[in-house]
Amino acid sequence: MIIDCHVHVNQYELIHHIPVLDDRIDELQKEMTSNNVDYAIILSSYKTNSERPSAKQIIDAIKKYDNLGVVAGFSIDNHTDEDLKNYRTWIKDGLVKGLKIYSGYEHYYPYDERYQKIYDTCVEFGVPAMFHTGDTYSPKGKLRYSRPLNLDDVAVDNPELKIVMCHLGNPWIQDAQEVIYKNKNVYADISGLVIGIFDHFFEKMIKEKVAELINYAGEPKYLLYGTDWPISSMDSYLNFVAKLKIKQEFRDNFMYKNAKELFKIS
Ligand SMILES: [Zn+2]
Repeated sequence: MIIDCHVHVNQYELIHHIPVLDDRIDELQKEMTSNNVDYAIILSSYKTNSERPSAKQIIDAIKKYDNLGVVAGFSIDNHTDEDLKNYRTWIKDGLVKGLKIYSGYEHYYPYDERYQKIYDTCVEFGVPAMFHTGDTYSPKGKLRYSRPLNLDDVAVDNPELKIVMCHLGNPWIQDAQEVIYKNKNVYADISGLVIGIFDHFFEKMIKEKVAELINYAGEPKYLLYGTDWPISSMDSYLNFVAKLKIKQEFRDNFMYKNAKELFKIS
């Protein structure tokens, strides 16, 4: 079984020019089928516009599918208390499986007190908070906000909060592995390490870094499979993870069991 805990249905001009949301979701289904992916979690964006559907638009668009879930994006600048109220209702109804903060894209530190209501909501309902960490796809992102070390503060101050560090903090994977090792409430997804497909040299380099992370942080109870599709290729990602040296029981945790438990996927 495979759970991809990190995909998008935004329209990305350069890589995924499909103007209609329903068509992008059809495309996602096709990709999942051809790669034997059983379930995927769609992350809504930090803002809503014609290219970036809101959590509500995604919830409505995926009603007919039982193999898709939503994690709702939240930003201080573009979301309101009304949005959070709706998120709370959808979490209760099982329609939203977590919340996501786009540190770096949004120019605030993850420990900014204006995010605290998000963390409190996640703890109250037992759902995870995901964070963008590492390099930003947009040159307008500011990297000091997306460094993985910032999440140590959030993890320590919110010991009940389950935190998912997206993208392993790449390229600050060493910082990420320490935050994971030290804090039992920190998880990480492996998504978005590449735009498109892995080339041979990059794959080799990242493979070594991930091996070091697993050696350092211990058996990967914290590690989640995700791709960042359509930014990263599902097919290339599966090829990449097949080459990681992980014991079979840990591989099952990594490929679906950890995510199943964390996001309460039935
Ligand atoms: Zn992403």
